Amino acid sequence: MAPSTKASVIFVLCSLASASSAFAQTVEVRGPVIASSESQSTTQLAQHFVDERLAVWRQRLKLEDWKISAVMTRKTSLAPQTLGGIHWDKRKRSAEIWVLDPADYALPFHEMLDDMELTVVHELVHLELTSLPRGQANRGAAEERAVSGLADAMLALDRRERQSPK
Ligand SMILES: [Zn+2]
Repeated sequence: MAPSTKASVIFVLCSLASASSAFAQTVEVRGPVIASSESQSTTQLAQHFVDERLAVWRQRLKLEDWKISAVMTRKTSLAPQTLGGIHWDKRKRSAEIWVLDPADYALPFHEMLDDMELTVVHELVHLELTSLPRGQANRGAAEERAVSGLADAMLALDRRERQSPK
């Protein structure tokens, strides 16, 4: 057994696919410039949205026995080339998801929220996969692909349902 399999606290730092597009678009901000007096409420709105979506996806992924919080995190506090992350304590059943802070997004408001939701879903799927067997050499890259695929698929389904209500 590798020593890491004994640890109950696990960190995952993610470079999400959508993240690179968010950074690539930093030079073409089309949304209104946010004044400093408005940025506080933008953060509050984003936090409220993220908390709401986290509750929905926590239930959808059957992670109700986990205590999960989402924390807006500045780019400088995340690992280079990452837009989010998660750490969890399996013993305590608690997890914290890092979502890129609105101040570091250069996307229009609604695209930013979509991207934040993708981060939440992506990180929750990592949590979901903690039950998978540990130890294979290439598990990291394989898991990253699986997580990205699952998150994309679930969000595509969810958005299609929202666009065509019965
Ligand atoms: Zn990831």
